[in-house]
Amino acid sequence: MTPAGPAGPRALYLHVPFCERLCPYCDFAVHVGGAALHRRYVDAVRSELETVAAAVADRRPLTSVFVGGGTPSRLPAPLLQRLLEAVGSALGIAGGAEVTLEANPSDVVPAAAAAWLAAGVTRVSLGVQSLDDDVLRQLGRAHDAAAALGAIRVLREAGLRHLSCDLIYAIPGRPAASFAAGLEQLLEFHPEHLSCYELTVEPGTRLHRQVARGLVRPLAPAAALAQHWGAVDRLQRAGYDHYEVSNFARPGERCRHNLVYWRGGLYWGIGAGAHGHLPVPLARRLGLEVPAGTASVRLWNHRATPRYLGQVERDGHGRAGWEGVRRDQRRLERWLLGLRRPEGVRLATARDRAEARALAVAALVTVVGGRVRVTRRGAELLDQVALRLAG
Ligand code: SF4
Repeated sequence: MTPAGPAGPRALYLHVPFCERLCPYCDFAVHVGGAALHRRYVDAVRSELETVAAAVADRRPLTSVFVGGGTPSRLPAPLLQRLLEAVGSALGIAGGAEVTLEANPSDVVPAAAAAWLAAGVTRVSLGVQSLDDDVLRQLGRAHDAAAALGAIRVLREAGLRHLSCDLIYAIPGRPAASFAAGLEQLLEFHPEHLSCYELTVEPGTRLHRQVARGLVRPLAPAAALAQHWGAVDRLQRAGYDHYEVSNFARPGERCRHNLVYWRGGLYWGIGAGAHGHLPVPLARRLGLEVPAGTASVRLWNHRATPRYLGQVERDGHGRAGWEGVRRDQRRLERWLLGLRRPEGVRLATARDRAEARALAVAALVTVVGGRVRVTRRGAELLDQVALRLAG
């Protein structure tokens, strides 16, 4: 029997905004403290999930769930379990799905780790950030290096098989050796996946104000790039696949959920500040008046937790806005995202091929087997290269 309505995406991002404190560089949707809101928040997420599920006729279960934040590991384990149960009953979770939980080292204790795995978490993304205590203090983190390494041991002892660790480089005033030493130490624990992010100065953050007042001087771009390429070389030597600008995986350990984003795919976004990317028929079923000629729809929820809660409790959804994505925007995104990955982008037209040849002469890309990939030099100018290829 043909389902009487649109199919839903098979990936879900679920945001849990609660954090112990606000890190000076953070521009995510965060609610500091808020333990009294935990139960109410889980109920709101369940209600939002029921609303979107009602719009889906062809209920194919999710193949990836990413519970990010904020700090979802701050939720008491029974509430996290309720959250995942709500996802399962609303949208379904396929057998063998990747279910990632972002965790801060200070929340990782044996009982919590066991409960997360029992609730269906298959992968933990641990916010190690650095193994230099001075850097961790500078970043305003609540944990120290010993706690980060202790958390890894606890997760392994609980039986976690897919561990990802986040590290931050390009820390102002810190030598490259500090980042390199942390990376080396982390490799001894054989994480299946690593994400190495450059510290960026985002408007509206405390770090941005410190930089504006001359209290902090960001690292020079060349020094930051040297740290990035140093990490790429070291991790490739250690057998990691550099499968996206900032991401490295052992064979078979690429993050399936993030690959959906990087392939320009469709996904649900549930929770305060979450963004989703939906097919047009589904967006229409959710009540949006999407004009003809739209390729897909991006939606986003209210960032402020109290506002999100109030709206979901009133209307059953937390949506703050949406926009239709035109075909030419999808084309640009295809280049911007595709060039971030080693597979590159397939050259589809004569114009693509001509532009790629010109960029290859400038040593910014290579063209092999009908696909274009950036060189290291091209990777440093990635946005400009993508814009040129998108035309
Ligand atoms: S723990 Fe993460 S999400 Fe929370 S404030 Fe710090 S950087 Fe932001």
